[in-house]
Amino acid sequence: MKYDVIIVGAGPAGASTALALKNTNLKVALIDKQQFPRDKACGDAIPGQTFIALAKLNPKYAEAIKSFKKKQSIKKTLFVNWNGKSTSKTWKHFTYNSTRTDFDAELLKLALEENKKIDFLPETKIKQVSYVAEGISCLTDKKNELTAGLIIGCDGAHSIVKKELLKTKTDLKIEMNCTAVRQYYTGLKHTKSEQNEVYLTKKYPSGYFWIFPLKNDISNVGFGIENNSGVNVRAAFEELLKSDKVLAPLFKNATPLGRVIGAPLPLGGSDNQIIGNRFLLCGDAASLVAPISGSGIDNAVYSGIMAAKQVNSCFKQARFDSDVMKPYQDEVHGTLTKTMRSNKTKMKIITMYPWLMNWLIGILHRFKFGN
Ligand SMILES: Cc1cc2nc3c(=O)[nH]c(=O)nc-3n(C[C@H](O)[C@H](O)[C@H](O)COP(=O)(O)OP(=O)(O)OC[C@H]3O[C@@H](n4cnc5c(N)ncnc54)[C@H](O)[C@@H]3O)c2cc1C
Repeated sequence: MKYDVIIVGAGPAGASTALALKNTNLKVALIDKQQFPRDKACGDAIPGQTFIALAKLNPKYAEAIKSFKKKQSIKKTLFVNWNGKSTSKTWKHFTYNSTRTDFDAELLKLALEENKKIDFLPETKIKQVSYVAEGISCLTDKKNELTAGLIIGCDGAHSIVKKELLKTKTDLKIEMNCTAVRQYYTGLKHTKSEQNEVYLTKKYPSGYFWIFPLKNDISNVGFGIENNSGVNVRAAFEELLKSDKVLAPLFKNATPLGRVIGAPLPLGGSDNQIIGNRFLLCGDAASLVAPISGSGIDNAVYSGIMAAKQVNSCFKQARFDSDVMKPYQDEVHGTLTKTMRSNKTKMKIITMYPWLMNWLIGILHRFKFGN
């Protein structure tokens, strides 16, 4: 099959790119190895900037995703230190929690409803990407060959587009990349429906533990930490649930649902190369997860929208070389990366002096900030 554009990955980055390509006459394939709805390891906290990004594209898109039913509205986050002292931050932007199974399927549904020209190919894994005379060739697990003038890698932290065309993989072991795990729980009696909870722990002070409530007495519970801490994240998560003096009592009568799943978080804040001859990378494939918070859905959406603008420009100029792709990379670095750079510095300080955050929460608690 011959396309103008192939988007690999139909998560938030891929779905947003497809949505933003609505008013073009381009023949676009949106490919995902999974069928939707599909699960994805995540805290399920949809950042407020996600809706702001969608509203910039078209206010109607933000409204559609905001009014989605399968959500738990969130107004504030409680930060608890390892002595059990807490403070909270009220969010000024609209935000909610929703399982990625539901949220990603809804965003994809919106993209496919709005952009009817998209050829969506679920359960199709891209196994190989290479340059051919007509542009880019993708070989699928079904042994089909798809070709296009341009390819967009929205295929997450282990991006095959990045690996095959940039000839490099994201080194998820290097400093400042993280791994996190999550599991659903029911019966957490202490939770408040519109409040997320973030916990520091004495044993693993450079990571954080979260409890994010969903609908129907279910909470998303997880733990993430920097990879070069050398900590086995899953083992640490289970240990904290059993023996942390602040957390363990909360889980005494709670029941786990399903299994613990985890994934890496490729953190942003560096001017990485995210373009090349006939390709662009977005979302996790471009390492755009925010340091400290670990949120990446908003930047996946922002970068998808920016990528669609670049695609239009490429086809208008009939040029697909890396020089012509530069405005996309400059826009990502000048906006998303720029914001994340200062967070990266703060994260370095926090990891070097983990007691600082613990102390700060204690002070804010004492002066009753946000309690
Ligand atoms: C445990 C954990 C907790 C997190 N919590 C939060 C949170 O609460 N809030 C937040 O904003 N962010 C969170 N993040 C980060 C967030 O999950 C990612 O930043 C976000 O999913 C990035 O979206 P994406 O579209 O780039 O990639 P993804 O959502 O990973 O989507 C990539 C898609 O590509 C497909 N794909 C991959 N390879 C191929 C292939 N070869 N062929 C075809 N398809 C392919 C996959 O099936 C997938 O659907 C968390 C991450 C983790 C690991």
